Amino acid sequence: MSYNIVIGGIHIESTTFTSYISKSKDFRIRRSSDLLDAYPSLDEYRDEFNFIPLISARAIPGGVVSKEFFDKWFNEFTTLLKTATKANVIDGVLFDIHGAMSVEGMMDAEGYVAGEIRKIVGEKTIISTTMDLHGNVSDLLFDSTDLITCYRTAPHIDQDSTKKRAMKNLIDVLKGKYKSLYRAKVDIPILLPGEKTSTEVEPGKSLYKSLDNICNERSIIDASIWMGFPWADQPRCHSAVVLTGTNKELVKDATEKLAKKYWNIRKDFKFVGPVASTYDAVNIAISSKEKPFFISDTGDNPGAGGSNDINILLNEFMSINKFSKINKKILFASIFDKETIDVIYNSKTSLNVKVSLGCKVDKIFGKPMLIKVDVINKFSDDIAGKCAIINVDNIFIIVTENRFQYGTKKAFIKAGLKDFSDYDIIVVKMGYLEPDLSKAAKGWIMALTKGPVSQDLGNINYKYINRPLYPIDDFDFSLKLEAKIKKSI
Ligand SMILES: [Zn+2]
Repeated sequence: MSYNIVIGGIHIESTTFTSYISKSKDFRIRRSSDLLDAYPSLDEYRDEFNFIPLISARAIPGGVVSKEFFDKWFNEFTTLLKTATKANVIDGVLFDIHGAMSVEGMMDAEGYVAGEIRKIVGEKTIISTTMDLHGNVSDLLFDSTDLITCYRTAPHIDQDSTKKRAMKNLIDVLKGKYKSLYRAKVDIPILLPGEKTSTEVEPGKSLYKSLDNICNERSIIDASIWMGFPWADQPRCHSAVVLTGTNKELVKDATEKLAKKYWNIRKDFKFVGPVASTYDAVNIAISSKEKPFFISDTGDNPGAGGSNDINILLNEFMSINKFSKINKKILFASIFDKETIDVIYNSKTSLNVKVSLGCKVDKIFGKPMLIKVDVINKFSDDIAGKCAIINVDNIFIIVTENRFQYGTKKAFIKAGLKDFSDYDIIVVKMGYLEPDLSKAAKGWIMALTKGPVSQDLGNINYKYINRPLYPIDDFDFSLKLEAKIKKSI
């Protein structure tokens, strides 16, 4: 017997606190064989399973997705799904999402899509959803999908194995491995930034490691913890635990136990590296003997959806330079500014080019800096677009046409860097350092800068998230963490 499984989804983490709107050009669209190529593990199942590609869209984190783009993707996705449903009996759906997509005018975009998938395929088809642990699991998403799982590492080094697990769980169900399956969810009123919940340090490390043991228990087939996404103002943004297993009571009990374990260690989650105010971070970097010394501009991390154009740290360094020249070579990687790129590329000279740099997207965090710069290097990149390195005194700045994160050595080399140690101080737009940078850094501090993805959650003007929520609200009563339970098969 051959089974039919459709595959598709949409993957973006998008913050509601930036003015940047994510549109068509921010997404990489995959269709047909290009989509299936993104799942190399399917090959082992092809004898028995027929995989039908729908459409997938994937973008780097950004601002709210335009309704126009979402509608376009949704219409194509559902049209293809309806066509597939008419032509074949659809046994399974692999719904591949991030889970923290904000769309103009929507509070729970992925939950809505999952609900619509269920309406189209009906109750008998098994839907398996694969997610990022920074996504959110609303009741609608949980109710609409039979199997649901997410990454177990941050930084996410298990993206492929998570998709593989979601597919294997689906295939096991279709092949009749289980007589019955239940899933249980506990919503946990905790919302922490990724900079406090890396799985490379405690307590995140042991908490996520414990999922392997839970899954080795007789009746549990999958266990997942979602940290949730702090930079969207929606009721669904909080942590959640979901377990799936064969015995209703045991699944409920194990889910509640895990939720309680997470709740009880909530106060142990601290920043995974040293932090300081903007002013202190700059001064610590200047006085450090370590080279290269990295500063993370955490409030404008494009990896969490930041606009990537805020110049707060640059301003700080330039202000100090005005009074007494900093005797250090400093690199800023990077500032997204299409207008500045146009000025640079249209300029007849590379010396003393007048630019107005940064803060064009998120104007509430600063204003463009009017400066004269020398253009050192021009280059282009598939994602970053046209790029340039500009220089003022001892400060070098990479400017990009599109939003981009300098998170790998490869990206820096493309920008002309020979070695990280060519610079004394390197300012990057991220939170915790990505592996290449972490390896290179001799010193590092996370600057708690203002921005759309500020680490200071207590000062974010939320209107719609569910309260109380730890640590925004300092409440300390023991919670009744009761699981919601659903029958999957
Ligand atoms: Zn993530």
